[in-house]
Amino acid sequence: MNAVPGKGTVPFFALLCFATVAAASDTVKLSVDLTSAPQHIIHSTMRIPAVPGPMTLTYPKWLPGEHGPTGPIKDVAGIFVKANGKDIGWTRDPKDMFAFEVMVPAGVSEIEASLDLLIPTNTEGFSSGASATPKLAVLSWNQVVLYPARVKGNAVSYEASLTLPQGWSFGTSLPVRSSRPGAVGFEPVSLTTLVDSPVLAGEFLRTVVLDERPGRRVVLDMAADAEADLAIPAELLDGYNRLVKEADALFGARHFGNYHFLLTLSDKVSHFGLEHHESSDDRVRERSLVDADPRRLMLGLLPHEYVHSWNGKYRRPADLMPDDFAAPIDSNLLWVYEGLTQYLGWVLTARSGLTTIAENLDDLAMRAAELDARGGRTWRALEDTATAAQLLYESGDAWTAWRRGVDFYDEGTLIWLEADVTIRKLSGGKRSLDDFCKRFHGGGSGGPEVKVYGFSDVVADLNAVAPYDWSAFLTERIKRRGKGAPLGGIEGGGWSLTYGDTRSPLLKVQEDVEETVDVRYSVGLLLDKTGTIVDVIPDSSAFASGVAPGMKLIAVNGRRCSKYVLRAAIQAAKAAPAAVRLLLENDDFFREVPVEVRGGERYPKLVRAATGSDVIGAILAPNAETPYNNGSESKKR
Ligand SMILES: [Zn+2]
Repeated sequence: MNAVPGKGTVPFFALLCFATVAAASDTVKLSVDLTSAPQHIIHSTMRIPAVPGPMTLTYPKWLPGEHGPTGPIKDVAGIFVKANGKDIGWTRDPKDMFAFEVMVPAGVSEIEASLDLLIPTNTEGFSSGASATPKLAVLSWNQVVLYPARVKGNAVSYEASLTLPQGWSFGTSLPVRSSRPGAVGFEPVSLTTLVDSPVLAGEFLRTVVLDERPGRRVVLDMAADAEADLAIPAELLDGYNRLVKEADALFGARHFGNYHFLLTLSDKVSHFGLEHHESSDDRVRERSLVDADPRRLMLGLLPHEYVHSWNGKYRRPADLMPDDFAAPIDSNLLWVYEGLTQYLGWVLTARSGLTTIAENLDDLAMRAAELDARGGRTWRALEDTATAAQLLYESGDAWTAWRRGVDFYDEGTLIWLEADVTIRKLSGGKRSLDDFCKRFHGGGSGGPEVKVYGFSDVVADLNAVAPYDWSAFLTERIKRRGKGAPLGGIEGGGWSLTYGDTRSPLLKVQEDVEETVDVRYSVGLLLDKTGTIVDVIPDSSAFASGVAPGMKLIAVNGRRCSKYVLRAAIQAAKAAPAAVRLLLENDDFFREVPVEVRGGERYPKLVRAATGSDVIGAILAPNAETPYNNGSESKKR
């Protein structure tokens, strides 16, 4: 055992425990300076209560909602620790890149730690990706804080203040104590709440109140790189207004105070949605509000993230509760956390009128077809896509059909659709998954609260709604390995998955906006705008001919490749099987391979079954009472 300088023979571990407890009981004063965000750097300073002796400061590693160790430690620079204004240095734990050891000098009750966050311009990844432009920034507090090691997030309090670039305003669910131009002071909150409450700030920021209920307001904060991009169409606003009503009708209670959608419109930030209990960090293409095609692709985002306030935040798997940001998570139940959210988001998108039922059916057909063609189903069960989510979020698009991706989202939709259809059949149409949601996610309205659950709790509440062997139903679907997606919900819902030679309007929009060519269900290929192969379906004719992701399609039947040339060659094989010749660039080598095509172009669609009622149509019909209030403007700049 090493003696601690200045402390005689007191054991090291005793000092460590003492230091931790003392720090946990006091408030950290946090000052964050966003004025250099346009320069892609954020400055942060913390005054942290401390006692003399060794102390470990930790940078948040495991982030709620990102389901992985995604804290951007590699982008932290300019770390200084001072006591009484004097630099006391620090040493990184060689076995934990997120931990910094400092020695607090005698007579000191507070240290000052400062750091810079270097904001990347790369738009890959979630909150650790690009988050600031010259006109806006999203501040994720976890990226700019250190906290005393081994302290639970709820046990340490932070009082934050924020400096903004001149002329910028902001939106956040974090309670504001004081606000004047360029400077905001927030109420002290736990580290857990701070990390759960990002800030959207920008030169062009517009706020619309979607629901005025006192103490339970729902607000849409939008920031864009250009003011013209904030011109949200009235029908979209009306849809978001209905979304709030439909969610109330579905869950029967709200478990938040004021809720803020923080919608970022920029082509220079990462695009994703990240749920929080009283807000969501929603980042989409710059023209998503004003242009119909990108708007079509973002319509499901806000419903999904809003559902998370109930499913994922209020109700959370016990092992997905990382209030200690250093503790690894067990993401095994993501097929509930994300899968049920994906299903309910899909349902609410139609019920709120954001999409038509026909559009939702096209969406469902695309997801079902993709999962049905996942060759990786033979070696990897759905459950493992949840358990290994922290790998799969990072694994890219190449080989997705064989590797499998984060399939618990869309396959969750199929499974929970089947559960919904099953409840409706078991109860003769009297009950539905809505009743499960009221039971599982409802109760009394109140402020943010977390109720954890396990697999048996899900089964028990399903059984309370409609007695059935739900344990076997769910276990079979999450643990099964083998070909074929679970299509029982589509079939039991009165529809069937089939393929025709015409692309759905949704697939056309997706191909146009994402600049892809999707011919996976004919020749087995998904290509990007350069002709580079993004993925190949195992068992497809292209795979059998040696085609792989990363190769580039140069020519088809001797003619330079374009999406038109490729599609025409495939469709020419409609009447009789034919070999389409693909000239491929594979690293520095070129090779032409024959790929057999049967039946021409094939694109997924749902068609009504010959018998049975349209249960899916009933599921997607609006539930909330009408009429709705239009959103009211509260401020604009
Ligand atoms: Zn989600």
